[in-house]
Amino acid sequence: MLRLGLTGGIGAGKSTVARELERLGAVVVDADAVAREVVAPGTPGLAAVAAEFGEEVLAPDGALDRAALGRVVFADPAARARLEEVTHPLIAVETARRVADLPPGTVVVHDVPLIVERGLADRYDLVAVVGADEDVRLERLVRDRGMSRQDALARIAAQATDAERREVADVWLDNSGSPEDLLEQVRRLWHERLLPEARRD
Ligand code: ADP
Repeated sequence: MLRLGLTGGIGAGKSTVARELERLGAVVVDADAVAREVVAPGTPGLAAVAAEFGEEVLAPDGALDRAALGRVVFADPAARARLEEVTHPLIAVETARRVADLPPGTVVVHDVPLIVERGLADRYDLVAVVGADEDVRLERLVRDRGMSRQDALARIAAQATDAERREVADVWLDNSGSPEDLLEQVRRLWHERLLPEARRD
């Protein structure tokens, strides 16, 4: 099994790369999806979050009110740490469950936006970073995701820079060109590096 950590700034093209790797045969674990799943309605995770932060972080339908929780932890590092004490072990268990019992030779792609910000690079055999200049990312976020310029800029500013990502990257996927150019790099990575390394293990 080969564990690839896939990261990149918002709008860089990480989801596009993950989709192509999945199409090629990788098992993709989406860290954001796992983080949502462990606090989905009816889960012990959601009950634990509500016990810690009170009913005011629940929406009327009983689901997690992310905006309300965000307001509680946004400016309070101690509250954020308490939240992570609840959620991180649950996320670790669910992530392990998803990759248990995979056949030998499997390429597992962990799609994790904050590998660099959280210092998680050591968890993976290889780290691939999707990079694109900030102005290019900004334009894509405004054009394709309907984000306001200001929102997109704030998100970009809150993340690591591509220079910081370069320091942990084993593989750099340059997405400043066309989508086809990106996919070609992904296919080359898959055939020339990921599959051979996964089969060697
Ligand atoms: P991320 O997951 O890193 O936030 P996405 O893969 O969702 O980024 O890409 C952001 C947006 O830009 C998407 O709408 C995607 O279709 C588009 N996109 C990605 N790569 C390119 C490219 N090379 N040229 C033009 N648009 C692109």
